[in-house]
Amino acid sequence: MKVFKFGGASLESVERIRQVAQIVQSFPDEKLLIVISAMAKTTNELEKVAQNFFLRKREIAAQLLFNIEEQHVNVAEALLGTKDHPLFIQLQQFFTEAEWTLGEKPLRTYDYYYDQLVSLGELLSTSIVSAFFNSVGIHNTWLDVRDIFRTDDNFRDANIDWIYTQRQVTEKVVPLFNNTNIVITQGFIGSTDQNESVTLGREGSDYSAAVFANMLDAESQTIWKDVEGLKNADPKLFPNTVNIPEISYSEVIEMAYYGAQVIHPKTIKPLQNKQIPLLVKCFLDKNLPGTVIKETADVKQLPPIIVLKKNQVLLNITSKDYSFITEDKISDIYEIFHGLKVKINLMQNGAINFSCCIDNNPEKIELLIKTLHEQFKIVYNEGLELLTVRYYQTGLLEELSDGHTILLEQRSTATIQRLWKR
Ligand code: ASP
Ligand code: MG
Repeated sequence: MKVFKFGGASLESVERIRQVAQIVQSFPDEKLLIVISAMAKTTNELEKVAQNFFLRKREIAAQLLFNIEEQHVNVAEALLGTKDHPLFIQLQQFFTEAEWTLGEKPLRTYDYYYDQLVSLGELLSTSIVSAFFNSVGIHNTWLDVRDIFRTDDNFRDANIDWIYTQRQVTEKVVPLFNNTNIVITQGFIGSTDQNESVTLGREGSDYSAAVFANMLDAESQTIWKDVEGLKNADPKLFPNTVNIPEISYSEVIEMAYYGAQVIHPKTIKPLQNKQIPLLVKCFLDKNLPGTVIKETADVKQLPPIIVLKKNQVLLNITSKDYSFITEDKISDIYEIFHGLKVKINLMQNGAINFSCCIDNNPEKIELLIKTLHEQFKIVYNEGLELLTVRYYQTGLLEELSDGHTILLEQRSTATIQRLWKR
């Protein structure tokens, strides 16, 4: 059994979906569990629907939803060559449910409504791909992952109940393969014990696929992307990037942690725990070697790995009454950050101050300041970038930093981080 994951970019157009079909057709005798995310920018569009609904701008929300419907129906029609197909009834049902949600008064949290609406993207894309595959002879079974992935009700960042979910996988997913070689299901979403839809965090489909790979004891997981494989830096930001043919789980988890948008950070653990290799391959040309991620990579020396996180803020937190910011105060501060779900990307402390770099999220910063201001004076600096380089070389580092004002720096033998203003 292999687990495949196709992301939004591979479903960007009718042509690309046909390419995905060709990839799958080239594995004729494999048992495949295929995890699919929403088409192209659908998740972003659905986020706008949720925002407008919650702001009670219901007409705008309905119009945005209608646009999404039209776009999906068009793609489905182009793929199937007809509108006379049960798929269209199914799509209609999904939209009707979303319209019901839009008709409600928003009495619950934003995150709850977000999940009820945004989870639609994956239901639509998987239904379309499944119907299209069946129509071209790629026989498959569509699975609603919400019957399998049980989570808590931490909406927008739900946590999987591993024991319950494993039982569902064993009892409901494994038997499907007695009658079919291919199961198609949604990434990114799940369900609470109250049958409320949840999402697992943006870009979470990689993680969904890894959970399946773990629970099905898959021989490998493949993430099909529109790039050649993992590179040592984002080619959109840096020239002269190189491909990495092989890399360890631990290196990738570090890269993802520092903000490389290669693979969802939660993806590695379920795979590492069962020693399942993760392959990153290009769906535009499956003969390209791609990248293999596994326990120990057979590579003596990795190239310098460069990650740039933009839109960062430096928060300087100073105690008003000159009391020291040591263990007890730091643990209070961390508790506040944890409570507001703010991740600290870099931190440093002195006698009476604590500096940290976080992603720029104005609402969260306002809440942080509100909570901290009684005890501390807070100053912040916006519009910054955080560079992380692993296996750095001095020449390269100076070249990258040239002309920037460095506000904070930290280095260890393997890693250097610089927070700068351009
Ligand atoms: N569709 C979701 C997102 O765009 C999940 C994913 O792509 O992995 O965040
Ligand atoms: Mg996506």
